[in-house]
Amino acid sequence: MRLKHVKGAEEAIENSGFVVQDPENMRGRWRRGSRPFAVEIGMGKGSFITGMAAANPDTDYAGIEKFSSVLIKAVKKQQELQLPNLLLIRADAEHICEFFAPGEADVIYLNFSDPWPKDRHAKRRLTSPQFLERYLGILAPGGRIEFKTDNMPLFEYSVESLQSSGWQITAITRDLHANPAMCEGNIMTEYEERFSAKGNPIAKLIAYPPLGTSPVRDNPLPTSQP
Ligand code: SAM
Repeated sequence: MRLKHVKGAEEAIENSGFVVQDPENMRGRWRRGSRPFAVEIGMGKGSFITGMAAANPDTDYAGIEKFSSVLIKAVKKQQELQLPNLLLIRADAEHICEFFAPGEADVIYLNFSDPWPKDRHAKRRLTSPQFLERYLGILAPGGRIEFKTDNMPLFEYSVESLQSSGWQITAITRDLHANPAMCEGNIMTEYEERFSAKGNPIAKLIAYPPLGTSPVRDNPLPTSQP
């Protein structure tokens, strides 16, 4: 992916009170009392995570984005909105286990993740077995991942990856916007807006870790699951 340099982005990110500069120091300290906590990996310009945080003030959110030139857009949105339940992180999600303690996250959102179509890059896909293993390390009992994409090869790869790693897919659609039950409360991402406007169907799944790795409990988090 080619990224343009955004003048002043680094400095604005470093000076923003909404960006956690040393997420390792927050490890184990993200949860505020009994409030649920959710993470979006690869949040891009932040439409989804700011929308979720605004719609669900009783849940805390962290958004992770690798590139400053993209993160800066989310930082600007959050500076306008000043949502008290949203923090942002500039990092490669490869290191999430250094940022979050075991059992810390109730939900991990993956939206329109980069497909990395070449086989030799498969382990970089955010639904690869390597990443699923990392998610097991930070999900709370009863925690889940929610994944949306318009990229059907990536979606089918992800179904296969989840199933072969023993995850339980509890809800799935290959046309989210035509599925009223799964679309209820759906907050669109930038890519979702763009690709659904072109007529691309959007796929979504919700998955829980393999039985025995994380006891199922009632989860108070809002979800578009029926
Ligand atoms: N989620 C947004 C949306 O749906 O509009 C953006 C989708 S964009 C295709 C994928 C984003 O994920 C990019 O901004 C990319 O920089 C980020 N990303 C990809 N791999 C990442 C990783 N390992 N850690 C953090 N961010 C990542």
